[in-house]
This record gives sequence, structure tokens and C-alpha cells, in this order.
Amino acid sequence: MTYSGVPLGHEFESFVISLIQAGGRPPKISDEAKKRIESIEEKLDFTTFVSLSCVNCPETVSNLNLMAVLNENISSTIIEGSFNRKMAEENNILSVPKVFLNKEDFLSGRKSLDEILDKLTSLNKLESTPALEKNSSDELYDLLVIGQGPSGVSASIYAARKSLKTIMVGEVFGGQVLDTGSIENIIGNKIIEGPSYISGLKKHVEDYPIELASNVRAEKIEKVNEIFVTSLSNKRLIKSKTVIVATGASYRNLNIPGEKEFKGKGVSYCTHCDGPFFSGMDVAVIGGGNSGVEAAIDLSSNCRKVYLIQRSDKLSADEVLQERLKSKENVQILLNAVSEEIVGEKKVEKLIYKDKNTGEKKEINLSGIFVQIGLDPNTEFLNGLVEKNKLGEILVDESQMTSQKGLFAAGDCTNSKYKQIVISLGSGASAGLAAYDYIVRNGL
Ligand SMILES: Cc1cc2nc3c(=O)[nH]c(=O)nc-3n(C[C@H](O)[C@H](O)[C@H](O)COP(=O)(O)OP(=O)(O)OC[C@H]3O[C@@H](n4cnc5c(N)ncnc54)[C@H](O)[C@@H]3O)c2cc1C
Repeated sequence: MTYSGVPLGHEFESFVISLIQAGGRPPKISDEAKKRIESIEEKLDFTTFVSLSCVNCPETVSNLNLMAVLNENISSTIIEGSFNRKMAEENNILSVPKVFLNKEDFLSGRKSLDEILDKLTSLNKLESTPALEKNSSDELYDLLVIGQGPSGVSASIYAARKSLKTIMVGEVFGGQVLDTGSIENIIGNKIIEGPSYISGLKKHVEDYPIELASNVRAEKIEKVNEIFVTSLSNKRLIKSKTVIVATGASYRNLNIPGEKEFKGKGVSYCTHCDGPFFSGMDVAVIGGGNSGVEAAIDLSSNCRKVYLIQRSDKLSADEVLQERLKSKENVQILLNAVSEEIVGEKKVEKLIYKDKNTGEKKEINLSGIFVQIGLDPNTEFLNGLVEKNKLGEILVDESQMTSQKGLFAAGDCTNSKYKQIVISLGSGASAGLAAYDYIVRNGL
């Protein structure tokens, strides 16, 4: 393992974990994953670009470092982008973590060990998993929890404390908290960093006999003879007496030409992760709510100029944030500006927008666009099964039950008025208790 740059900030965590593992402490991974890593005979040199303010980088780095510890054919080099500006520019790094394998583009973003191993398998550098998938068609769970954010964790713990046989599936453990820096409103903790909070949630859930299946999506739920049958993206079918949907919400896209094409090449959704790569440059933040205004304030300390683009005639962020924003001399607020297209050759070069006052199309030359226009609930896979509101949020009653008996929902994917961690923890707890009640009352 080689670090180029000082591994402070969020990278300090991956550095310490790697030191401990290099010192011989056994990693907490399955025997199967360990064997797969040890079986690699080809020489694999990973190079990962990171920023110290990125909360997603340490997981990818820790996993690659672990692979380097377990197999001497593997090496892991970590390049801190602001310390190695020239190297980052030469490799067109505008979004982190960004991983190269043997100098070729390998992957981007926060990746679990399984995702890295799967990617190696897809490149024929590793044999596929020998019948790892458990197609337990006969196993019947009391409860399936879908989503591993705060609401899913809380629901699972409450259910397990009532001795429900519980399985919890999800794409990535932690949910939106993965994108959060410091959290100052988890009552009882004056301030806590997102990654520390997630590691607390993980330890807590591991204290209970809850089966955890990560890196999988629930794709469909059907009710057959009062039993829920859920299909997962890894082809596993799960049968359960009750289900709690805790799938939260995801960043809303602009859905304009150029957005998809330039994702990671100047279009970003994470100021903490990617902001440092735009130091001294001109950027735009799209969205005038709290997250947009916070992002613009954050970027103004490093960037040459920040445009805050809002489609309506006023910002919707809290007054106190708006006041702070107005004190920043290098921020220009553009109201009534509708973003229409992102243009560039290899990376973002221009934003084209329509001025609603005049109908005129205008353009701004810039290097980065940070999209902060809110979140959409992750509920599409439930189409037709439960009632939702116009926003796609699942409608629930006072015990978190949906219109489908035995199917509960909690957290940001529901029509709860406020979306916060403590609220998700609370509604998850209610859903866990309600699932228990439902099983007892119906003699299931
Ligand atoms: C940048 C940012 C900062 C924030 N700061 C704060 C703060 O300071 N304080 C605060 O209280 N709140 C904050 N929030 C809000 C808070 O993070 C959310 O309210 C909370 O995480 C919601 O928890 P949840 O479990 O309902 O959903 P999520 O955290 O969204 O978790 C849902 C999980 O389900 C997974 N999933 C989705 N679809 C599927 C599927 N089909 N199958 C399997 N898994 C699926 C998702 O990948 C995700 O991991 C912030 C949010 C953001 C984005």
C-alpha cells in the first residue's frame, strides 16, 4: 500500500484500518471472499484518487488495501487529489473515489468488497462465485426489511428484540447518511460524523440475530396466499410473513441533455467529495433550497466564482443560510433561470439556461455543476402494490401500515412530512413493533 499525500480528513480512517490489518489483525469478511482474493494470481495494481473531504472514499480504499494485505500480487496506491493536482488533472479527475487498475479506468464511487470482486469477475480476472447465492425457496422469515438506512436498521432491531426471524436486504449500508458530513441533530450526540454514525448502526445491528444481505436490490414484491415473495437483483427469492419497506430517497436528476454524459466529468451531486477538484474554477450549483445554498457557501471558499441557479423567483433556503450566502462576494445568484443543457467536449464546459423573464437562452462558461434539487422516494419497484401520493411517497397509517396488509413502510420513502434521521429511526421502530403485532394478532 502506498499513500501519496497525507491521509488525514476522512482518509485517516482507511489509513488506520489498513495499518491494523497489515499488522495481522484478521479482517471481518467472509471466508469465501477471503479465499477469492487469495486465489488471484494475476498482478493487479490499483490506483485510487481521493479527496480528504470525501466520505465515500474510505470504504473503496479500505477494501482495495485489504486485498493488497491478503494477496502479494495486489498493490493499492492512494493519490490525494489536491496534493497531486497535476496528476489529478492529467487523469481528468473531477469526481472521487476514482479507481484505475493497471493504469486502465476500473471504477468510480463508493464500492463494497463484493462489488469490487464482481467487477474483477466481469473482467475475467477472478472466477465467479461458486454457488454462493442462497436460493432458500423454502425458508420463511417473519420479516423482510428492505433498505439499510436509519429506518431499516431501527425496524430490524425492534423486530429482532421481539424475536422475529428477520432478514434485512439493501444496496448499501448507511443510506443517505453516507453523503452526510457532520450531523448535529441526533439527540444525545451534540455532533457526530456520518461515517462514525453508520459504524455505530452497523455494530448495533450485528449485536442481534439479523440476517444481513447487502449489495442487492429488491425488484418486485408479490403476495401469494398471504405470504410475501420478494425477488432480489441477485435472483434470490425471499418469503416472509411481513415486509417493511425502508428504501429512502435518492438525489433527483435534472434530466436535461448532458447531465448523464458528464456525470463524474464535471457534473456532481456531492460537494464534500468533489468540491476540492474545482479549486480556483468557476462552478454552478443548481437548486436554491437548503442543500443548494449550503453547497454554494461551501464551494465559495475554494472556487473562483459560484453561480447559484434557481428556477423560481426566490430562494427557498432558510433565511439564516441566505444571509450567509449573500455575504459571499464570489457568489452570483441567478433567479428565474431554467437549466436546459450541459455542454462540453470531454468534460463540462458550459451550462445553457433560459431566462424566464425574457425567454432568452443564455450560457455560462464553467467547469463544474453541482445538482442539488431535492430527492425522489425509491418506491418505483412497488408500483401497483401499495397506494402512493403524487410525489411517489408511500401512504402509511399511524402504525406505518400501507394499503397492503402486512406490508409496512418507514422513513423517507413514506409521506411523513419531515425527513430526518431521528424521524426515520422513530418510524422504523414503529414499523418493527407493528409487524410483530400483525403477526401475533393474525396468528401467523
Ligand atoms: C446531504 C444530506 C445531508 C443530510 N443531513 C442530515 C442531518 O444533518 N440530520 C438529519 O437528521 N438528516 C439529514 N439528512 C436526511 C437523512 O439522511 C435522511 O432523512 C435519512 O437517512 C432517511 O433514512 P431512511 O432509512 O429512511 O432512508 P435512506 O437513508 O435513504 O436509506 C435507504 C436505503 O435503501 C436503499 N434502497 C433503495 N431502494 C432499494 C431497493 N429497491 N432494494 C434495496 N435497497 C434499496 C438505498 O440504497 C439506501 O441505502 C441528510 C440527507 C442528505 C442527502
